[in-house]
Amino acid sequence: MFVFDAHCDTLMDVVAGKRRLAETGKGGHIDIPRLRQGGVGAQVFAAWIEREFLPGSGARRACQYIDAFYREVEDNPDDLAFVRSAADLARAQQEGKIGAILAIEGGEALDGSVEMIRIFHRLGVRLMTITWSDRNELGDGAYDPTGGGLTKAGVQVVREMNRMGMVVDVSHASDATFWSILQNTTGPLVASHSNSRALFDHPRNLTDEQVRAIAERGGVVCATLVKPFLGPGYNSVAGVVDHIDHFVKIAGVEHVGIGSDFDGVGPDGLVDGIADASQIGLVAEEMRRRGRPEHEVEAIMGRNLTRVFSEIMG
Ligand SMILES: [Zn+2]
Repeated sequence: MFVFDAHCDTLMDVVAGKRRLAETGKGGHIDIPRLRQGGVGAQVFAAWIEREFLPGSGARRACQYIDAFYREVEDNPDDLAFVRSAADLARAQQEGKIGAILAIEGGEALDGSVEMIRIFHRLGVRLMTITWSDRNELGDGAYDPTGGGLTKAGVQVVREMNRMGMVVDVSHASDATFWSILQNTTGPLVASHSNSRALFDHPRNLTDEQVRAIAERGGVVCATLVKPFLGPGYNSVAGVVDHIDHFVKIAGVEHVGIGSDFDGVGPDGLVDGIADASQIGLVAEEMRRRGRPEHEVEAIMGRNLTRVFSEIMG
């Protein structure tokens, strides 16, 4: 089965020089051998800007992440394929390589300069999470809500992303920013790593209304494997599938995916029963055990994200 994972923070370890993607057994959740074991055929790698680089050095830090990503792709040509288009994604699948998609987690990486989004697009970035949890130059994050929605710069950035073919990611946005993004964009939106607020009331999770809005626009909501977002009572593979089942009920099976958040949380942050990317298939197994037909399992595990990324990237 082809798995498409919409979010990981593995580049944090790479940029810090802790490990390389070809190495295994050095901790964390993702490396090439474990992606292979888990059947992951497309992986979004996020550049997340640490607070110590803010304000002012977000773009420099993002470039360091991008450099780390390029080195990994160049040093592992048999395993990784740099995906910048629908054709790249299809080719990676045909050649049995892991399609590696470059992303930025948090518009603070632009340092407030709208033109930086065009530079990052030229460097191959194909998804940006508009805010991380804090407020930034583009809008409010989930942990820092003022009710203000997108700023003027934020509106310009999401419109440029639409025009260039970049995935606008609403995970981490505050509610007002979410609706403001919806108002100021066209086409599908993706929530790369968020769970259901109906099941667990957490500012990082999506309300049913938000889930429905993403589905109506043809997008995908991607459930995480993260304990603090799943909530009490959902701390197991079955709990992850409870969130997925709820998303399917609200959004329809064509609009649900997986965004693991591997390497974005510490060793205790992942749901019980999944230690790393090699075990992501347990989510599919639980869906099958509940009687979900194979074509629906495949849609949720990867086909939906393939469709939406291909449509947006062109
Ligand atoms: Zn995140």
